[in-house]
Amino acid sequence: MSNRIVDVIKMEPAKKIEVSGWVRSFRANKFISLNDGSCMASLQVVIDPDNFDIETINGLNTGASIWVSGPLVESLGGGQKTEISANEIRIIGNSNPEELQKTILQPKKHSLEKLREQGHLRMRTNLFGAVFRIRHHMSFAIHKYFNDKGFFYIHTPIITGTDAEGAGETFRVTTLPLGKKEVDNSQDFFGKPTHLTVSGQLEAELAALALGKAYTFGPTFRAENSNTTRHLAEFWMVEPEIAFADINDDIDLGEDFLKYLINYALDKCQEDLKFLNERALKEEEQLPKEKRNELSLIERMKMVSSNKFERISYTEAINILERSKPNKKKKFKYPIEWGVDLQSEHEKFLVEKHFKKPVVIVDYPASIKAFYMRENDDGKTVAAMDILFPGIGEIIGGSQREERYEVLQKKCKEFKIPEDAIWWYLETRKFGSVPHAGFGLGFERLMMFVTGMTNIRDVIPFPRTPNNAEF
Ligand code: ATP
Ligand code: MN
Repeated sequence: MSNRIVDVIKMEPAKKIEVSGWVRSFRANKFISLNDGSCMASLQVVIDPDNFDIETINGLNTGASIWVSGPLVESLGGGQKTEISANEIRIIGNSNPEELQKTILQPKKHSLEKLREQGHLRMRTNLFGAVFRIRHHMSFAIHKYFNDKGFFYIHTPIITGTDAEGAGETFRVTTLPLGKKEVDNSQDFFGKPTHLTVSGQLEAELAALALGKAYTFGPTFRAENSNTTRHLAEFWMVEPEIAFADINDDIDLGEDFLKYLINYALDKCQEDLKFLNERALKEEEQLPKEKRNELSLIERMKMVSSNKFERISYTEAINILERSKPNKKKKFKYPIEWGVDLQSEHEKFLVEKHFKKPVVIVDYPASIKAFYMRENDDGKTVAAMDILFPGIGEIIGGSQREERYEVLQKKCKEFKIPEDAIWWYLETRKFGSVPHAGFGLGFERLMMFVTGMTNIRDVIPFPRTPNNAEF
């Protein structure tokens, strides 16, 4: 097995090492820049063309995969500490230079749209290499955080027969023949209508009510037709549930969790973050001043991890918005009044203009939130909480769950949820029900925050959005 470049660049000079990777460039018939994806940095391979046959030299095209062996020596050039002086080179996979011109492997600046169209190749670029290495580290950190805190990872179903979450439009799952006008659901595969899950929460609750602390981390599906830069049809959600806990414990967990993940990235992904930070600064130079971020990516991450999140009630949020300048100047598109759902323009104002730090909003009107959220004593609001981040808006949505059987039963009626669809959910409130709470973190929203990428399609390897399910 070859050495990985991430290890080689930290090594002292050595007699013989072997590396395998893809040629980024070959210049002056002498210097190969070799990248193997293990890190941002490429390794310099120096060759004496007289020592290699013409096929090998001609095969050293951008994109080609090669194996190299030779001593690791101190580099005379300024860009790197060490380099390989190649004794042996094998071309493993050729890369046709003419065809390469049409691809994003061609070393020049490509638009994010073009990179998306070539999603099969974009991970080979510095930008997407960085994004997807960070994505790995964030996934790992999520499991580590919960494991260290005594949570159990539970796999909740992807196909579900519950149409109760009310979290959005669903994708149907069926084996019934296409094009039939009359559908007999009893003849379908599961003997009833099923769809792809929009959330693993209800099942995660069942786990928490047995194991104490549980979480799911898996794909979720919503037929979001909105085509925004923050919504995907298939995305990954992290959903912890804690028993014997209330809404404040839930917020504490959400804040601690987000800060942990951000600090983990700052600590473990320094090289990739530095690249993304500089890239974003360069991109923003092209924007008019008022559209630029006041803080850089890394500064934003540090700001969030070192500040206490502001906690306010929905009612306070409405008051602030009513008194705000943009409202008085009629700059908001959507009206503000107690009872309405907050729109992204409102969330943006609260986080970026008013408080200038993450904001947690609690106690939303019951009518705009899901049936399972715990009713507050005022009878009008529920113990729901949203965590809002600069540049992202809602990153976490959570609540204390209604643990009182009668109240939950009443809410089911109000929300027109047939009891026979979620009898099992209600039943947990009959046998040792306890106050419990949880939330959903959109993994790609977190990824947007820690990479500075502004379109959610650029933080998931293969995005699914309306009219787009390539690869
Ligand atoms: P939004 O108002 O942004 O559509 P939501 O209220 O529908 O969010 P929840 O149902 O509370 O969101 O889901 C929990 C979390 O999942 C959200 O806080 C967000 O981070 C993420 N999320 C929701 N919908 C999507 C989506 N279509 N694509 C990516 N992430 C999403
Ligand atoms: Mn939504």
